[in-house]
Amino acid sequence: MSEAVRQPVLAANWKMFKGPEATRAFLDRFMRLYPAHSDRSVVFFPAAISLSAFLAARSDRDDLEVGIQDVHTEVEGAYTGAVSAAMAAEAKLGWGLAGHSERRRDFGDEDATVGTKLGRLLEAGLRPILCVGETLEERRAGRLEEVLSRQMESVLDGLASSGCGPWHDKVLAYEPVWAIGTGETATPRDAAEAHGLIREGLARRASDEQAATAAILYGGSVKPDNIEALLAVDGVDGVLVGGASLDPDSFAQICLAGSDR
Ligand code: PEP
Repeated sequence: MSEAVRQPVLAANWKMFKGPEATRAFLDRFMRLYPAHSDRSVVFFPAAISLSAFLAARSDRDDLEVGIQDVHTEVEGAYTGAVSAAMAAEAKLGWGLAGHSERRRDFGDEDATVGTKLGRLLEAGLRPILCVGETLEERRAGRLEEVLSRQMESVLDGLASSGCGPWHDKVLAYEPVWAIGTGETATPRDAAEAHGLIREGLARRASDEQAATAAILYGGSVKPDNIEALLAVDGVDGVLVGGASLDPDSFAQICLAGSDR
């Protein structure tokens, strides 16, 4: 566990699942299974259409934090279908994802764009989680370190040229693309290696202090039966969960990992 973020972050990325009704039903059960724990952060990224249903249904459970899955690079404008970081802040959200591999792959977000989006999140006072990770081809070609360094360097350059920032208390997610939604999980050894490389990259590009205090989450087919092993890996400060976060029972088990319930 890093020095600054002393408690694990357990984050749920709901992608394009769960409208308002399903969101309410999820929370109704999840809140009965998972009581607030002060030693961990639990963050949900619902679909934009379901954010207000989430905020209303969580009621006074503000230990269940909420974030936006994606924001536009501009603050406002004629961008049909998009939302901005400023709007997310106005809606009382606390977090934002930047650079998820599905945004990179399906919507053409490049590193520079991801850097600008990250800047917009910071500017609006939200806490970004920067996602990085290699494809299977890149891993097989022995390019893990190069890909992670390139993603971080270019995103940080994009952030610098956006004029937003600075980015303190960094939170990143290492999400090997080959492990997302595939049922394949990185081994604890793979995760330790990649998280170490990310920290080395931050030390080179930012500072030793920033590298030591960054929180680095692991994402890729996290489930109740592998959560304990992943959280035990040195340098893994939490998890970003897709599929297994859609079921209240399985996400509650993930959130309760290592607790006496
Ligand atoms: C994700 O989309 O961030 C993710 C990790 O998905 P899954 O847990 O389904 O692999």
